[in-house]
Amino acid sequence: MTKTIVRLAALLLLALPSLTGLQLPARGPLPDKRPESAAPSSDAVPGAEEQAKEPAELPTPQTRPRPSAADPAKPDQTERKPEAAPGQDNTRSKPQEPSSDVDGSKTPPSDKPGKPAKDSESAEQQPPPDPAPQPEEPKALAACLADLKAIGASFEQKAGIDDDGGCGIAAPIAVTKLLPDVTLEPEATLRCETALQLARMTRDMLKPAAESAFPDKPKLTGIRHASAYVCRNRNSAENGKVSEHAYGNAIDIAGLRFGEGEQPVMIARQDDGTAEAAFQRAFNAIACLYFTTVLSPGSDPTHQDHMHLDVIERKSGFRYCR
Ligand SMILES: [Zn+2]
Repeated sequence: MTKTIVRLAALLLLALPSLTGLQLPARGPLPDKRPESAAPSSDAVPGAEEQAKEPAELPTPQTRPRPSAADPAKPDQTERKPEAAPGQDNTRSKPQEPSSDVDGSKTPPSDKPGKPAKDSESAEQQPPPDPAPQPEEPKALAACLADLKAIGASFEQKAGIDDDGGCGIAAPIAVTKLLPDVTLEPEATLRCETALQLARMTRDMLKPAAESAFPDKPKLTGIRHASAYVCRNRNSAENGKVSEHAYGNAIDIAGLRFGEGEQPVMIARQDDGTAEAAFQRAFNAIACLYFTTVLSPGSDPTHQDHMHLDVIERKSGFRYCR
């Protein structure tokens, strides 16, 4: 009997698991894992990506503005609309002016100088406690002046300029001629380096290029500029930094004069097949060999009728030519 009872008990024990579903635990993991791994992959990922992106992207716009604005801005910022009338470059001496220029550079309709500064801009202008004009290294300055003289430029050394807002030139020169036979019109106040690069470019590349482009024209006799030293902000800088014009590092070329009494060739974007267009394109490229920033006509809304050239120094010798 006991054996029979034991066998029955053993059979029951064997049968119980299948009857009570005790094997489920073994299968459980499969159905459980699938839904977990499958559902999340499609549902959670999108949300996770968005969540990951939001925090990552939101901050960047806030923190990047400066870096990204600084790089592209440097070129842009250095540029602005030329002065209304050539020769009146040195009339500005206050940092408020820049604000109107900054505006103008951003939106074509606001190009007009003399516009009231925006609140945000005026607020940004206060922070820039820029130091005094960048001092010139004596030996480099002496070498520059000697080279400029040797080229045949006509210029006069002026007293240092130290305007408000960080504007100024430690050792400015007033240039009237770049070469013995090429004037700079009107007289331009610049750092020696800017003038020297302009003179070298004119002598070595611009004159020969002009002679090739316009064989029937008289020779190049003058370069007309629209802006040299001017105390103003960079046109695209929202941090209130001043333009390279405010350091004597920049000049805006507005036109070239050939011979005497002939209408000057004005700087303008030209995409057609004329000699003028070919010359302008050559000029754009030539300028980048001598200047670290070149904003050619048509490069942006504020550069339709002049070329901005400056000698700003950037890391690794980077040049921005557009
Ligand atoms: Zn300029």
